[in-house]
Amino acid sequence: TELYLAKEAAESASQAKSRFLATMSHEIRTPMNGILGMAQLLARSGLAPGQAEWVDAIRASGSTLLGILDDVLDFSKIEAGQLTLESAPFSPAEALAALRPMLATMSAQKGLALRLEIDPALPGGVLGDRRALHQIVLNLAGNAVKFTARGFVAVRARCLPARAGRCRLGLEVEDSGIGIAEEAQRRIFTEFTQADGSITRRFGGTGLGLAICRRLVDLQGGSLGVRSRPGEGSTFSCELEYPLATPAPRASPRPHAAIGEARLHVLVVEDVELNRCIAGTLLEDEGHTVRFAADGYGALELHEREDFDTILLDIHLPDLDGMEVARRIRRHPDARKARARIVALTASITTDEVARYRAAGVDAVVGKPFDFDELIRSLREPPVPPAAAPGSALMDTRLLATHFARLGDERVRPMMDMLATQGRAGLAEFAASADPATQRERLHRLVGMAANLGLAAFATRCRELEATPLPADLRAQAGALRTLFEDSIAALHAFAPRDAQAALEAAAR
Ligand code: ADP
Repeated sequence: TELYLAKEAAESASQAKSRFLATMSHEIRTPMNGILGMAQLLARSGLAPGQAEWVDAIRASGSTLLGILDDVLDFSKIEAGQLTLESAPFSPAEALAALRPMLATMSAQKGLALRLEIDPALPGGVLGDRRALHQIVLNLAGNAVKFTARGFVAVRARCLPARAGRCRLGLEVEDSGIGIAEEAQRRIFTEFTQADGSITRRFGGTGLGLAICRRLVDLQGGSLGVRSRPGEGSTFSCELEYPLATPAPRASPRPHAAIGEARLHVLVVEDVELNRCIAGTLLEDEGHTVRFAADGYGALELHEREDFDTILLDIHLPDLDGMEVARRIRRHPDARKARARIVALTASITTDEVARYRAAGVDAVVGKPFDFDELIRSLREPPVPPAAAPGSALMDTRLLATHFARLGDERVRPMMDMLATQGRAGLAEFAASADPATQRERLHRLVGMAANLGLAAFATRCRELEATPLPADLRAQAGALRTLFEDSIAALHAFAPRDAQAALEAAAR
């Protein structure tokens, strides 16, 4: 009993420590946000060039710290037993397929090929925690992308032999990256541990991601391991067992490519991650296969390697201009490649510009924010002229309603979070920059992101600022813009799928 009591005491001390960490990391977030906010104000107050850089460094360090706090919070919540896993019916195949756009855009950012293989033998319904499965896969895949400079990232899900009434899910996340030394392979699953001392310097991170994964797997009675050869790559494998359930009801009815219409192989060229994610999800739901490129040269490279039926091309790209990409595609010596249908995606659709796009070889132009039906139609035939720009309402509720109806609540929410984070970062960069070209470029990206999630008023305001020769009081504008953004984000989060139904019905009438 003495041993038992000692063990009890140790366990409750460890739990108290974890609760303390959870509370502290939560509490530190609030003042940290204050510090970051003040740093932004400071950045706008007309600083000397050197000073602006220092403030920018404060902001960058602050954002990194917030990321670390999030990991610590997650980890200590689990340790303190504050995290309970859900047991609800879901389809593992569908849950993994839902991550495809996110995984594809993560890989595209570093020019890596993504292979996602989902065993068709997986059962239609199991009882378990869908979010935990997402967290594990995103964590492992995030590492795979982070530690791989070229090559591929593969995510595989297989149905393993199991007892009656059970499903054993075998997950594998493989990469062709730097690999992990034999002696480090066991250590890395321990909290705050990295493979070697140079990792933090080269890649950042806290060494908590895998510890969180392992805890999540343990809580579900599963196993997690790694095989790796330094310099060749790593394969993380994870096994999870679930009771079978009757298939989960589909979150929302989804339209599919009309019967008899061929599935298309589509290339989406977009520099904004969120927009790749939205377009990719939509196209895959329609049954098409999708590849992504984040810039012009990446697009030309993929076009060289694969034959696409249609190329959705953002005109405003970081390296090559979209029109130049179109010209080069049209000049391709292989007639089939040169003939691919090119649809320009752009926020600028004046008659003059459309004429220039066409001269460059573009077949059709779809305005941003894109209307889903219009985008789908544009894949094959010239689209009808884009709808008039939304009025001065804060939100484009019709667009948002369509998103909810088409993509489902579960997939729109993460996109909203992505918009909030990236929008804030974009605004901070806009405010911190003193160079008009950079400011315009930031505004342009903000327009693209915001408009596609229905932030109509904010997008319009950014567009106006982008168009006017930059006013002298631009720094003052940044404050107002930020307020408008936060209001819009709040409205976005308050938007419920119930409103979605109402808005769709109103629009139909
Ligand atoms: P972090 O990525 O924040 O450092 P993790 O717990 O996710 O923390 O990973 C711990 C360590 O394991 C990493 O720092 C890295 O050294 C190693 N590691 C994880 N995944 C990979 C991978 N796919 N390839 C190479 N090394 C990896």
